[in-house]
Amino acid sequence: MTHDPTPALPDQRPITVQTSDRGPVAVTCPSWCAGRHEDGEQLVDLGHVSENTELLVHTERGPAELAHLLFASYPFATQDTDHGPAVAVKLAYDYFSFRTDTALYQLADEIAAHAVRIRAIARQLAELQAAEVDR
Ligand SMILES: [Zn+2]
Repeated sequence: MTHDPTPALPDQRPITVQTSDRGPVAVTCPSWCAGRHEDGEQLVDLGHVSENTELLVHTERGPAELAHLLFASYPFATQDTDHGPAVAVKLAYDYFSFRTDTALYQLADEIAAHAVRIRAIARQLAELQAAEVDR
């Protein structure tokens, strides 16, 4: 009987991914990884990603996505800063990496500032509509 000197933590899962440039590569998924790994990618693109946290808003046509966030790490990326974990935020049509909690708190503060602006515009709308009624 052999003994693995570095057993995976209970919530980590060892997997093997078939890469296009390095063949089969054994990695251990962190606890937050949703486990969506596809064979055929290059090793540098082998990444762990979590489930999305969607930020939805209600519109007259139903829910619309404002942004979504997910944890990601790319342990074989050419850039050390991408080895992660970091948070990827999809804003508009692209993903942006937030590598520190400070960066994410800044994003939250900026979104909160936008909420203040939206409330001010709501007050303006109410005033404009009231002015229309008074005509
Ligand atoms: Zn994974």
